[in-house]
Amino acid sequence: MPQLFLLGIVGVLGLVTGSFLNVVIHRVPRGESLVRPGSHCPRCGHEVRPRHNIPVAGWLLLRGRCADCEAPISVRYPLVEAGTAALFVAVAAKFGWSWELPAFLYLAAVAVALALIDLDVYRLPDQIVLPSYSVALILLLPAMIIDDRWDAATRGLIAAAVVWVLFTIIGLFGMGGGDIKLAPLLAFHLGWLGWSWVLVGLFAGFVLGGVAGGALMAMRRATGRSRIPYGPFLLAGAFLAIFAGAPIAGWYSSLLTPTV
Ligand SMILES: [Zn+2]
Repeated sequence: MPQLFLLGIVGVLGLVTGSFLNVVIHRVPRGESLVRPGSHCPRCGHEVRPRHNIPVAGWLLLRGRCADCEAPISVRYPLVEAGTAALFVAVAAKFGWSWELPAFLYLAAVAVALALIDLDVYRLPDQIVLPSYSVALILLLPAMIIDDRWDAATRGLIAAAVVWVLFTIIGLFGMGGGDIKLAPLLAFHLGWLGWSWVLVGLFAGFVLGGVAGGALMAMRRATGRSRIPYGPFLLAGAFLAIFAGAPIAGWYSSLLTPTV
C-alpha cells in the first residue's frame, strides 16, 4: 500500500512537472523568462484560465483549441504531461521510497525537456545541462550520508570523468558540444548504479542513435550531412539502462560465457 501511495503522489507530481516542462521546452531555447508572462495563447495573447491550465484535463476540456480565438493547441502539450507522469511513475516503481528517488526523478524531468528541445532546435541548452551536475550531487547527498553510499558517488564521478574523456575524443570527429556536456551527467547517474549500467547505457545510446540515424538517412535519402539530434538517443539509452541495466548486462555476459 505505501508503494501504491508513492506511485500516486509521484504520478500527480509528474503531471504538474510535465506542465512546467512544456513552458521550459517552449521558452528556454528562445531565451524567455520561465515565470513571466503567465501562460497565454500565442495567437490572441489571452491568458490561459486556471482550470484550463490543469495538466491533460485542460487540453481535453478545450478539445485542443484556445478558449478565446479557437487557435489549435498542439497535442504535444498533453502528451508531454502524460509522458512525464508515466516516466515518473516508472522511476518511482524502480527506486521505491529511497534517498535516490528525488535525483532520478529530477533526471527524468531534465531528460524530457532536453530530448524535446534537441528535437526542436538541435541544441541541449547549457542553462539546463550544467546546473544539473550540482543538483544531482545535492539531491544524492542524503543517500551518501544516511545510506553511506560514498562508494556509489565515487563510482559515479569516475564514470563521468571516463565518459567525458571518451566523448571529447569522439567530439573530435564531429559529435555536438551539447552531447559532450550531457553524457558525463548521465554517466554519473549510471555509475552510481554500477558499471554494468554505464556500459549498457552507452551501448544502447550508440545503437539507438545509429539505427535511427540510418533509418532517417534512408528515408530522406540524406547525404549523411543532414543533422540528427543525438541527445534524445543518449537519454533514451540512459533510461533503458536505468530500468533494465542489470538484466541486459547479465544476458550479455551469459552470451560471452561459454556454457559447457
Ligand atoms: Zn487564442
